[in-house]
Amino acid sequence: MQSSTEVRFETVFLSKNALDDDRTEQLIYWCKRFDKLNLAPKSAGNLSVRTKKGFIITATGVALGAAERDNLVEVVEVEIKQAKIVVYAKGKPIPSKESVLHSEIYHSRPDINAVFHVHDQLVVGLADELGLPCTEGEQPRGSYELTTEVQRVLELRKDARYLVLRNHGVIAIGETMAEAGKLAEDMNKLARNLTRRKGAKNAGNARI
Ligand SMILES: [Zn+2]
Repeated sequence: MQSSTEVRFETVFLSKNALDDDRTEQLIYWCKRFDKLNLAPKSAGNLSVRTKKGFIITATGVALGAAERDNLVEVVEVEIKQAKIVVYAKGKPIPSKESVLHSEIYHSRPDINAVFHVHDQLVVGLADELGLPCTEGEQPRGSYELTTEVQRVLELRKDARYLVLRNHGVIAIGETMAEAGKLAEDMNKLARNLTRRKGAKNAGNARI
């Protein structure tokens, strides 16, 4: 039996042509960069950029380090039914299961043109210490509950461009891909510096 949080994800392809959009190159650049920084272990993380009709997003189950034009797909509509999410897409692969999350952010924040979700475990572990906006509890990945909770946090912090998904990952948003990408990178640097300082302090204490 399905639990109430389980949603079926269905993709309807409006066309199977490969994407022809200049934005794909920059999106691939950020996928590879996050992979190098180890922010997307295995096939975690999904990145998107707004288009006229929807957004281009990474495919499901593909590691960001392996991103290429053929595993990007344009989502033009997301329909939320009771226990089913139907995604209308143009391209070859199945879009990320988190497409609903991206879709809702683009709808509620017209100023935002890039949504980058990665699994930055350092930041996730230090979310409260860094005073970052964070979801309450942990919602299943790809669930509508997670999307609703992210919406709630963004509603409370209308200026927020970065938030933590409790025990899961982070979302950086921006007017441009460069802005969202830099934010994700800067927060990772901050978390790394804090971890280093804490390590040095602990080593100092151990010597006393
Ligand atoms: Zn995730």
